Order: sequence, then C-alpha cells, then structure tokens
Amino acid sequence: MSDILIDAEFDSGNIEVHAIEGTRARLALRKDNQSDFAQWFHFRVSGAAGRELELKIGNLNTSAYPGGWPQYDACVSEDREYWGRASSSFDENEDNGTLTIRYVPAGDLAWFAYFAPYSMERHHDLIAEAASLEGVDHVRLGTTLDGQPIDCLELGQGEIKVWLYARQHPGETMAQWWMEGALDVLTDTADSVGRRLLQHCRFHIVPNCNPDGSRRGHLRTNAVGTNLNREWAEPSGEKSPEVLAIRNRMDATGVDFAMDVHGDEAIPVAFLAGFEGIPGWRDEQGEDFYRYQRILDRRSPDFQTEQGYAKSAPGQANLTMSTNQLAERFGAVAMTLEMPFKDNPADPEPEQGWSPERSMMLARDCLAALFEWIETRDAAQR
Ligand code: ZN
Repeated sequence: MSDILIDAEFDSGNIEVHAIEGTRARLALRKDNQSDFAQWFHFRVSGAAGRELELKIGNLNTSAYPGGWPQYDACVSEDREYWGRASSSFDENEDNGTLTIRYVPAGDLAWFAYFAPYSMERHHDLIAEAASLEGVDHVRLGTTLDGQPIDCLELGQGEIKVWLYARQHPGETMAQWWMEGALDVLTDTADSVGRRLLQHCRFHIVPNCNPDGSRRGHLRTNAVGTNLNREWAEPSGEKSPEVLAIRNRMDATGVDFAMDVHGDEAIPVAFLAGFEGIPGWRDEQGEDFYRYQRILDRRSPDFQTEQGYAKSAPGQANLTMSTNQLAERFGAVAMTLEMPFKDNPADPEPEQGWSPERSMMLARDCLAALFEWIETRDAAQR
C-alpha cells in the first residue's frame, strides 16, 4: 500500500512531518515565529481514500495549552466547506504528550485543523462584500510587519460607540466566524435587530487584528512573536503596529462598548471576562457589564456564566490586555468573549462540536443582547 502525503504550505498551514508509514504519520506542531507558542495545526492529507488514517501529533506537553488536548477532537473537512470532527484521543505519557487522530476519508483528500480555518482570502471577501454596501465605510487602519492591511468597517448613525474586534490571537479562528455572523446581522436590511442597532450605535469592526499570524499559521502572535493582547498599554510600531493602529483609531472615535472576540483552548464552553481590578473601577461601570452578561446568559443556551476566568483583585488588572485598557482608558463597558475549541459536554453536538455555524449564531445572540442592553439601559440606571 502506498504512503500518504502531507502538505501544509498554504494559508495558515502548520505541521512538521517526522515520519510516514502507509496511512500512519508522526507529526509535530511548528512554533509561532520568534516565540514558544504552539497549538494551531492545519494540514492536508492525500492518498488515503477509504483507508483509516492514524495521525499522531507528539510533544504536546510543551504546547501552549496542554489542557486543550484531553476531550478534544480534531476538525476535519473533505471539501473545505463543511468541518466535522475526527475521533481523537490524548495520551500525556506517549512521546511527551500525543494526540492521536483517526479518520477514514471517503475521497483522496482530507484537511485537518485545530479549528475550522478562516483564510485571508475569505477575510478579503468579507471586507469587500461589506464595504460595497451603502452606509458601510471601510478604513485601512495601518500595515502589519509583513505588509498586510489592517481593515476596519464602520457603520451606523447612532451615538453609542461600539467596537468589535477579533483574532488578536490568530489561531482562534472561531472569532472571525463570529465576526461573519455579526456582520450578517448588521448588514442585512431585513434584520430588525441590525436596523435598530444601526440607529443607536456607530460600529467599528476589525474582523482580523492579526493578518500576519493568521497567514503564517500561528496560534497566538504576530510576525515577530508578539502577543498582541499584551501590548495595549504601550503598543509600538516595531513590535505591535496592529495594536498601535487600532488603538489610535479608538482614541479618535472614543469607545463606549467593546467586545474582544477569542477562543479558549481548555474551557469547553462560551463565557465573558470583564475588567475587574482596573484602577478606575466604578461599580456602575461594572454593573453595566454584568447586566450585559445576564442578558446574554438568558438569551443564549450556548453561553454560560459558571465557568470562566478568575477575576482580578482590586487594582490588580493587567492593563496590557485590551479589555482592561479600554475600560480604564475610556470608561467603556469592555469585555472579552471566549468560545471553545472543544464541545460543551453538557450540550454536545457530536458531528461538529463547537463550529463556525455555532460561532455565527452566538454573534447573533450577542448583538440581540446588545440591543436589549441598550433598550433597557435607562430603566436599569434609574
Ligand atoms: Zn485569545
């Protein structure tokens, strides 16, 4: 039987091939450039039609989040449109931590990834489609170190300045699928939530804060290994031009409400993190965040508040992170939305787990919650 072939030289490709024997392969993750982070993978297998693949990714105890591998099933697609899950198992004692992926492709080709990829080509399609619509302004905020544009879409006529931004961590591709769902709501003239939101708000939307990390197949950093979500106190043109460009635009527009969209490797549910511990904390500002969280919790079965990150103690917030920086800098109601890579064990979807489709649906719920939050705000403040 012939050996399979494995390729990863394409947009967001990432894998090292150590050995191939028939339909079995020993693989490893490539680290983000100039950094030690490794977790994202994306590669193509050819020549395995009808045969069971056994793909072993080793040395995962040194990956960025070893807790991301237990109860995780790899994403797989044969047409690069529909992404399902391939049965996977993790053994921390095999080859310093090994994820074993098993799958029988129907056809000759199958693509595997940590989560359904969101390519830069699709990013440009998204920007082009939205920017062509009446009432949508496109702003080129700046240039990355690899020379790619940083795109922002602005729309709406209202007073409330809303910033939505995603993929500071490029391997968290569910964040840009979420953006696609959000833009669907805001640009569909038949969507009553979108129409009303555009009356109340001016939206500033950055669907991809880290094009270089995205194209390079990074988990967490830009072209030179900078974690952009630790740069918001003092961004620089040398290390983090992406954050500098976005924050400069925020300084020009102001920020009332901000959502930074992410994925969490280990926690298998969606949740929000706020800005507890900022020096300028006001109880009313905090309550405005908790009120949004309660509305979303009530509206979306895919969102919950039991699991999440520990809150910072008073005065201990890390102001290099965007949510804390924006809450402090603008007095904004700022938050970080986390979606899972794994599936929610309390509400599993065995074919796809957490998926692009579910990320887009959650975006709908987030915007509907934003509308309710605005509509009920005056009553809540009384
Ligand atoms: Zn993240």
